[in-house]
Amino acid sequence: MFFDILTLFPEMFVGPFSESILKRAREKDLIDIKTINIRDFAEDKHHTTDEPPYGGGAGMVMKAEPIFKAWQDTQNKRGVKSKTILMSPQGKELTQDLVKDLSNEEGLTIICGRYEGVDERVRDTIVDQEISIGDYVLTGGELPAMVLVDSISRLLSDVLGDEDSSKKDSFYNGLLEHPHYTRPREFNGLKVPDVLVSGNHQLIERWRKKESLKRTLLRRKDLLEDKKLSDQEKELLKEIKLELKGEVDE
Ligand code: SAM
Repeated sequence: MFFDILTLFPEMFVGPFSESILKRAREKDLIDIKTINIRDFAEDKHHTTDEPPYGGGAGMVMKAEPIFKAWQDTQNKRGVKSKTILMSPQGKELTQDLVKDLSNEEGLTIICGRYEGVDERVRDTIVDQEISIGDYVLTGGELPAMVLVDSISRLLSDVLGDEDSSKKDSFYNGLLEHPHYTRPREFNGLKVPDVLVSGNHQLIERWRKKESLKRTLLRRKDLLEDKKLSDQEKELLKEIKLELKGEVDE
């Protein structure tokens, strides 16, 4: 999958995309990430990419023309019309379901805003979808773009060592994941639950499912409202509620 990222600050992406899993994915050509400097497409003498807002007021607005030209050039070079996303606090909230949907695209073009944001005519003409990473405002779209690329990349074939690991993560199947433990068996007086060292895989699976349901009930009850539970999950949830009697509201 390819990602073309239009930004005023391409250097910001160097570190995060040159380490660990994303680094290996790029080396194996599983993902192709290109950063395009919008400033290179500003044709006036000073390479102006932002101007004060019409109507007055604080801040600067990113000009439409350099973004449009950078976008046009990127689309021409790829030779395919990729979905264009504008990172924006006003966009659709990024969830694991949206990440899954986007991981089916051949490629994405991602526009990073700065200052007060981009001229509205960028949205009107080239943006297919606006995406927000949460209800707070950052200084620019670069960090949100990194979050988007990272979350999508780890769902692509062969990017993670173990294909199944992303499918067991929180949110993938509508629940939070169970707790994890590793060596040593005892740490600061706390022991690893016996079942995890029992060697009984059926019991381990049951424990993990139950802990996952318990965590979701205690921390993110809203997720359970949208989830279609299997018979085993319903049974386990009943058991958990009995055990937690009084600790959770019905
Ligand atoms: N004035 C804008 C508003 O109130 O909606 C906020 C502009 S923000 C300071 C500058 C840029 O950062 C935005 O254009 C967007 O690209 C990016 N940005 C900030 N917060 C974001 C968020 N929560 N999710 C995605 N992008 C965000």
